[in-house]
Amino acid sequence: MTRCISILGSTGSIGTQALEVADQLGIRVAALAAHHNVALMEQQVRKYRPRLVTLYDEAAAQQLRECLADLDIQVCSGMPGLLEAATLSEADTVLTAVVGMVGLRPTLAAIEKKKKIALANKETLVCAGELVMEAADRCGAEIVPVDSEHSAIFQCLQTCRSRDEVERIILTCSGGTFYGKKKAEIDRASREEALHNPNWDMGAKVTLDSATLMNKGLEVIEAMRLYRLPLEQVQVVIHRESIIHSMVEYLDGAVLAQMGAPDMRLPIQYAMTHPYRKASPAQKLDLLTCGPLTFAAPDLDTFPCLRLAMEAARKGGTACAVLNGANEAADALFLQGRIVFGQIPILVASALREVPYISHPTLEEILQADAQARAAVQTAYAQLQ
Ligand code: MG
Repeated sequence: MTRCISILGSTGSIGTQALEVADQLGIRVAALAAHHNVALMEQQVRKYRPRLVTLYDEAAAQQLRECLADLDIQVCSGMPGLLEAATLSEADTVLTAVVGMVGLRPTLAAIEKKKKIALANKETLVCAGELVMEAADRCGAEIVPVDSEHSAIFQCLQTCRSRDEVERIILTCSGGTFYGKKKAEIDRASREEALHNPNWDMGAKVTLDSATLMNKGLEVIEAMRLYRLPLEQVQVVIHRESIIHSMVEYLDGAVLAQMGAPDMRLPIQYAMTHPYRKASPAQKLDLLTCGPLTFAAPDLDTFPCLRLAMEAARKGGTACAVLNGANEAADALFLQGRIVFGQIPILVASALREVPYISHPTLEEILQADAQARAAVQTAYAQLQ
């Protein structure tokens, strides 16, 4: 069980909930890291008194230094600050909840220090899954997923003796904001329409990725890497109620499902208490009032992002890093109101066509593919105008 934790991405949705859980469980906080939110970070530092705090943005870090002048605390910035937060000696666990590729280097650094990784940064496994899993094996670092679906699978695999016993894993998907709609109805959807999610309270990028189903596509890749399964053994099923968080089907036909109220504090807590369980203040599931549970196949024509992700997953190599980088760039354009919803997959597909493919990339080649993908999206965007 976790005794002392460093939280990368502490001001975001996962980070703030993780601090709440750590508080509840009496877990010490060694380091806090975030992008630029000075006000919230100051509050968190005063409450949790970590030894080290870091803001990625240099100007914000300078502002924070001034705010915290009365405290004896190290305030860092940039990638060196993130790396220091990820490798601090007193932390046994590092929660990686930063958004995007920026989480890759700190995660690898924490693995090298044999930390338990509570992984909430999808990009790490999506872009560099082979490298990350190989490093974790080599260093003997444990990776415990925080994403609700992967935590569900992790929990359903606890009694599994050999991976050969697994027939497939079944990732459930809420379907996102536009479930049931047809392509023509959502092609020109706005930021406000796309960011409305009834079940989960998440950041803007993840909510948008839930609406395009890219989030599920990234999770398929994440699951393949984490559980070392081919694409054929990962199935996506739409489950609107978000009560079953995912399932594992075994060879004998037995299907184990992990259920619970849709509350991120549950998978966050399990990542900290694993292999044990502790009481949680999160809402309990009431089977008598949660309503019927429904299942359906995803509509790949209306949501081409999921299809693109599966193609990238099958291809492997740099394809997944290109998919992810292109998606981040296209998401940013959409969130700035510069493209419409239906143009997100068009831009991602164009990057997948344009960026040269490498089958067994190094970390440098992965980072390069990511940069090329972002550039390819900008080029394709310019051609749309
Ligand atoms: Mg998820």
